[in-house]
Amino acid sequence: MGLIIGLTGGIGSGKTAASDWFAQQGITVVDADVVAREIVAPGEPALSDIRQAFGNWVLQPDGSLDRAALRQHIFSHPDARTMLEQITHPRIRQRIISQLQHATSPYVMLVSPLLIESRQHELVNRVLLVDVPEHLQLSRASLRDSQSSEAIAKIMQVQMPRLQRQTHADDIVVNDGDLTHLYSQLMPLHQQYLALSNTI
Ligand code: ATP
Repeated sequence: MGLIIGLTGGIGSGKTAASDWFAQQGITVVDADVVAREIVAPGEPALSDIRQAFGNWVLQPDGSLDRAALRQHIFSHPDARTMLEQITHPRIRQRIISQLQHATSPYVMLVSPLLIESRQHELVNRVLLVDVPEHLQLSRASLRDSQSSEAIAKIMQVQMPRLQRQTHADDIVVNDGDLTHLYSQLMPLHQQYLALSNTI
């Protein structure tokens, strides 16, 4: 496998804004959130394992996973969360590896909000952090999701603290300006990754 860059950051930090820019440069982007949804699609073995483990209530009438019901259930049942993760995490990891292997661009990017927490950073050569001051995280995420800043703050509280994330990063962009400011920080990194990809 060639060079793999892991891109991470907290809620509303600008991961999608950054990874869309890399995709526009022709870089293949593997999105861990998309993979997590793919592996529980109807017909996938993980979905039948989840149904067997939890019961028929996890399915909606159309046979797809009732994500909201399951989310609520694991919120109040820590053991259920562990069981769910035992079913999903190995499959997510396998599919991520497979998608990374099939990438044809000079280097490939793995975007994951839980890159470090779920040890997906072990799959990458470098970690790029999209860092953002907390007040901007709050305002941008609540605007995007039409949620109160209190609701976003709750999510931020259970995510890895900003300083801890920074210690795991090889490269950091600070998304505290407009998108032009963000892109101007991404261009030199893209050049650096292209150069690095020739040495791997
Ligand atoms: P999540 O993990 O919650 O999905 P994310 O890290 O992918 O979030 P984005 O969706 O890229 O974050 O950004 C959050 C919101 O902030 C979006 O509505 C996006 O358009 C906006 N945004 C991102 N960067 C900037 C910026 N530099 N200036 C203004 N708005 C921005």
